[in-house]
Amino acid sequence: MDYFSGHMDRLAKELARLPGIGAKSAMRLAYHIIGMPEEEVQALSDSILEAKKNVRYCKECFMLTDDEICPICKDPSRDHKTIMVVENTRDLSAYEKTEKYRGVYHVLHGAISPMLGIGPADIKLKELMTRLRGDVDEVIIATNSSLEGETTAMYISKLVKPTGIKVTRIASGVPVGGDLEYIDEVTLLRALDGRVEL
Ligand code: ZN
Repeated sequence: MDYFSGHMDRLAKELARLPGIGAKSAMRLAYHIIGMPEEEVQALSDSILEAKKNVRYCKECFMLTDDEICPICKDPSRDHKTIMVVENTRDLSAYEKTEKYRGVYHVLHGAISPMLGIGPADIKLKELMTRLRGDVDEVIIATNSSLEGETTAMYISKLVKPTGIKVTRIASGVPVGGDLEYIDEVTLLRALDGRVEL
């Protein structure tokens, strides 16, 4: 035990489970939390639990939201016939920040990776195919340009093509292996405008 308190030890251990938090950071955070006023600690712990209990996937696009259908899918001014397929909610946020894309999204929650044992059934692909039975003009594949992202893009294009729906892939101006969320808006928009039909 690193502390003279079993409670501190437990708190630090729980914090160290979070991504990017090593043992030292966990210790610093644990000391900080103990020094905070009790109301603030309560608010922090409530916000974590409430978020966990109430945040869910949108029934249409699978992004994280508080309601059954997210604000984007509910918005009648958006183009519901254009669906951009992204790997995660963070990538969706990156495109939303540009305020230029007016279609809707589909969040896969991952990418196909034979190395990691992630297959087509492990991401929201079946759900995408169900959506394509509706009135859809174009599927824009905006998965990352990593090996997994490209594998996923190929797989999706093979699935969608026989339906006759137009399939496009964002241009490869996006750095290889780069997470979409870290790419600036200009690059994102250029990638979107320069998309090519598959
Ligand atoms: Zn939605």
